Amino acid sequence: MYPATFDYLRPSTIDEALAMLVKHGDDAKLLAGGHSLIPAMKLRLARPGVVIDIGRIRALSDIRDAGGHFAIGAITTHQEVAGSTLLKDKCPLLPETASRIGDVQVRNKGTIGGSLAHADPAADYPATILALGAEIVVTGPNGERVIRADHFFVDLLQTALAANELITEIRVPATPRTVAYEKTEQKASGFALAGVAVVIRSDGVRIGVTGVAAKAYRATEVERALSGQAPFRPETIARAAAHAADGVEPLGDIHASAEFRAHLAQVNTRRAIERALARG
Ligand code: FAD
Repeated sequence: MYPATFDYLRPSTIDEALAMLVKHGDDAKLLAGGHSLIPAMKLRLARPGVVIDIGRIRALSDIRDAGGHFAIGAITTHQEVAGSTLLKDKCPLLPETASRIGDVQVRNKGTIGGSLAHADPAADYPATILALGAEIVVTGPNGERVIRADHFFVDLLQTALAANELITEIRVPATPRTVAYEKTEQKASGFALAGVAVVIRSDGVRIGVTGVAAKAYRATEVERALSGQAPFRPETIARAAAHAADGVEPLGDIHASAEFRAHLAQVNTRRAIERALARG
């Protein structure tokens, strides 16, 4: 199936892209890797009159040590994140997560900014972004603002990003080695039926869960149950992990029932905590 006709624009700077976004308003869509937008256009779920291809804006494409955090440009592909020696060394959870996304074609085209902006409830990055306590830098007509991961995911396919804003950068902190991402995937696509990202620091544990509910969330009840319990005993971990789907409404569909997703969240939370600790 072909998308409806559209005009194609290719800015080479962030300012040009913003000017195009402002000019065309609701009729425009940004195109990064195209691996969510193009399928949606083919199915006529999205029907932009103007497509603004940001895939060649060089300022959006690097991974760098910004002193105090690591900055990842919005159009950095999943493959580039997965292969980054800087991130493998300083923030290994992100490359581990990227390496689990889809297949090699998806990883070669899909981008971190596109994935976060799309906010698919089964996407992998959102769990990790929450567990890391990352920040999402966005630019709009009124300048730049920084959105904390905890405030970014609003609902199914909805984020705190405004229609005239562009994600420019994702900021992640350095972490210890005690991190892990565990997922059970839908076999055909790789999307998460339940994906759990864990970051264990000496002062606490942060856990992000994706695939289970309408949006990715922090497993705060698990975090609370682990608080002050280190060094963690196996039964403490198992008891805490049982709270992985507390307070959310698990989704059920042809791939997995709501009960099964909640169960997978618990199992993958336990496994992720155990694997993160084994690395430490
Ligand atoms: P695009 O499709 O280009 O854009 C997606 C949306 O984000 C659009 O609305 C666009 O306007 C907006 N957008 C893009 N960039 C920006 C920006 N910088 N600022 C603001 N808005 C922006 N994902 C997973 O997480 N796990 C998987 O296992 C997985 N499997 C997949 C399997 C298949 C077969 C396919 C086709 C996709 C799969 N994906 C998976 C999704 C893939 O990772 C997508 O690439 C990703 O979700 C979207 O990134 P993109 O760069 O392709 O964005």
